[in-house]
Amino acid sequence: MTETVEHLRDFNYYKLNQNVTQVLAEYIWIDGTGERMRSKTKVYLTPITQLSDLEWWTYDGSSTEQANTKWSEIYLKPVVYVRDPFRGDPHLLVLCETYLPDKKTPARYNFRWIANEIMEKAKDFKPWFGIEQEYFLLKRTGTTHIWPLGWPTGGFPYPQGRYYCSIGERNNFGRALAEAHLRACLNAGIKIAGINAEVAPSQWEFQIGIAEGIEIGDHLWLARYILERLGEEFGIDINYDPKPILGDWNGSGAHTNYSDVKTRGEGGYKYIVDELIPLLSNTHKEVLKLYGANNEKRLTGHHETSSYDQFSWGDGSRGGSIRVPVITKELGQGYLEDRRPAANIDPYLVSAVIVDVALLNSTY
Ligand code: ADP
Ligand code: MN
Ligand code: MN
Repeated sequence: MTETVEHLRDFNYYKLNQNVTQVLAEYIWIDGTGERMRSKTKVYLTPITQLSDLEWWTYDGSSTEQANTKWSEIYLKPVVYVRDPFRGDPHLLVLCETYLPDKKTPARYNFRWIANEIMEKAKDFKPWFGIEQEYFLLKRTGTTHIWPLGWPTGGFPYPQGRYYCSIGERNNFGRALAEAHLRACLNAGIKIAGINAEVAPSQWEFQIGIAEGIEIGDHLWLARYILERLGEEFGIDINYDPKPILGDWNGSGAHTNYSDVKTRGEGGYKYIVDELIPLLSNTHKEVLKLYGANNEKRLTGHHETSSYDQFSWGDGSRGGSIRVPVITKELGQGYLEDRRPAANIDPYLVSAVIVDVALLNSTY
């Protein structure tokens, strides 16, 4: 009896011997909410060395709000794989697109296929992106209630001002999770550029990029997946709501930094101001519908945001729809920051829409 208990105490299933040729492939997809992901494991008995070694697979779409019970089968098409930082080598995270049984019609919330077509058309312009993903950490405080990590149960912490890039136990909540996320993303090969504690207490940001074309969406979704999985281990819920706590608390955005050969080239600043900004301004109203659900609660004109209804821009301004960084003005070329996207965007949609408007003459 004692022996059994001792064994359980030391039991680390990650360290169990395993045949080196076995690969556990975690197939990941965006579900019928368009904001959340699902995943399941497929065992391969032979090594995976290229994308084509990973087979199409199926799942029950009626359980993910992507199909009805009668025609429930949805296909998973592997599109990108990276190292699995949880299971370690040689195991893989496999990001998938979803298709109806004809294997041609994209399933609900598979926007990658259309984004990919747009990115392909514009690829000579080399569109680059850097997305700043903000999020809140939430914790269960009762059977149903959830509240930001480190906040007094049912109450509020000190007002904002001390939390952005903070240090210290009274200011910084959840660093261990943010740090674990950074390390896990780097291990997986995700293009993560940095992390910082954000303006609201228990709010964080990570930056993905610079990534070209469809890669920005792929890497951001994979980074979100890794964050949620770590949240399971830390007992923390990851929240991408644009305005999770009403009142004098910042909401969460996904600032999207953008450049292409024209903005980065000689005369780029002049091109941004004279040509690109007017294109973005003219499409403001329609495009905002694709910039995250409930974003109007966040884009109030306060808390470093612009108005939902009114387009605006400025050099170095954090109160406009678009900020042109001071460095871009100084050098006469560079990039711009679209500050409108909410934290719950589909990065495939937002990156593709920017390319569509900036480079492919779509007016919406
Ligand atoms: P801030 O918080 O000041 O808005 P961050 O440093 O958090 O800025 O994020 C800036 C982002 O811009 C980074 O993700 C970076 O990769 C991205 N970026 C920098 N240069 C370019 C560029 N030329 N094109 C696209 N994105 C860029
Ligand atoms: Mn930032
Ligand atoms: Mn920013």
